[in-house]
Amino acid sequence: MRDAGNYRVFADLERHAGSFPRATRHRADGTTQDVTVWCSNDYLGMGQNAAVVSAMHDAIDRCGAGAGGTRNISGTNHYHVKLERELADLHGKEAALIFTSGYVSNWAALGTLASKIPGVIVYSDALNHASMIEGIRHARCEKRIFKHNDWKDLDRLMGEDDPAAPKLVAFESVYSMDGDIAPIAKICDVAAKYAALTYLDEVHAVGMYGPRGGGVAEREGLMDRLDVIEGTLGKAFGVMGGYVTGSASLIDFVRSFASGFIFTTALPPALAAGATASIRHLKESRAEREAHKANVARVRAALDRKGIPHMANASHIVPVMVGDAKKCKWISDILLDQYGIYVQPINYPTVPVKTERLRITPTPLHTDADIAHLASALCDLWSQCALARAVA
Ligand SMILES: *Cc1c(COP(=O)(O)O)cnc(C)c1O
Repeated sequence: MRDAGNYRVFADLERHAGSFPRATRHRADGTTQDVTVWCSNDYLGMGQNAAVVSAMHDAIDRCGAGAGGTRNISGTNHYHVKLERELADLHGKEAALIFTSGYVSNWAALGTLASKIPGVIVYSDALNHASMIEGIRHARCEKRIFKHNDWKDLDRLMGEDDPAAPKLVAFESVYSMDGDIAPIAKICDVAAKYAALTYLDEVHAVGMYGPRGGGVAEREGLMDRLDVIEGTLGKAFGVMGGYVTGSASLIDFVRSFASGFIFTTALPPALAAGATASIRHLKESRAEREAHKANVARVRAALDRKGIPHMANASHIVPVMVGDAKKCKWISDILLDQYGIYVQPINYPTVPVKTERLRITPTPLHTDADIAHLASALCDLWSQCALARAVA
């Protein structure tokens, strides 16, 4: 892995509440360095939002540190119940169920639905996240992989199967590495044609899109066409945890059978309180989303001026394409050591070989000076690595 440039080295960071995206990096030799983080999934800086932080402090003062048990055995805190109501409301669903992470929510919910619905066939987008793949694999059900975002391929595959078999279509709205967005309405149309359940991962979209931060399905008026909307509390909401929302009976079903929900300690009340505050804030306030969008456009424009190739997409994710694992790692190392810019290299197996990239995630908190510094640093390194420029 080291030889191939795929060995993962974690940056040891101390984030600074009140001055995101700044952080102190602790080096292996004990020295430190000030850095600007350019690859966080705390897209809107909600991890330092005053209402979120104070809700967490307050919950610790009232309820202490941990939940004290599984949800079934003493661990259901009133903060969890309030958070689940907030989430159900966010997605216009009857009910919600929280998990310790988005990963666990996909794994447990898909694993449960796909193993407990007799004879179900699951149709999974080719680029679905590992958590969905593992959940489906765990269920040992019949599965078909449809071409990425290709509703025609989905239609073809569904048409080949027994019309009487129960079916479930699992896909994402915003795909994390390319930042492209699924044709949700088209996929729902195909699913409806075959009376299939629809399961949408909105992890990279919740808090970010839609008038209340309900995700791409909210923006496009499609929430009621999805049987399950899944999300995370750890990215734009800035805290931690995952969830699914859906009808009361479907959520009750997952609650009753999902091992990954039942046999684990509930989230600390403070996390639930912080997440609730974050969701409430982003339901009301569009300022973060608007400032974020503006900064994403500024970053793209700055990269364009320097001829730095980045993948075009309709989302907030800016993949800067390097196409070589070693160069990608080298650029990332130099950016960090010499420019104080932290952007983790994304190499195989997270993305295919030859599509290695720097996945840049602007926030509303990056300044114009930060953006100019990033673009000129990349410009220097592009020359040093003799990488191709984008033609304007
Ligand atoms: C990050 C991610 C998850 C997992 O969410 P966590 O809360 O980080 O565990 C699920 N789906 C997708 C598409 C993701 O990118």
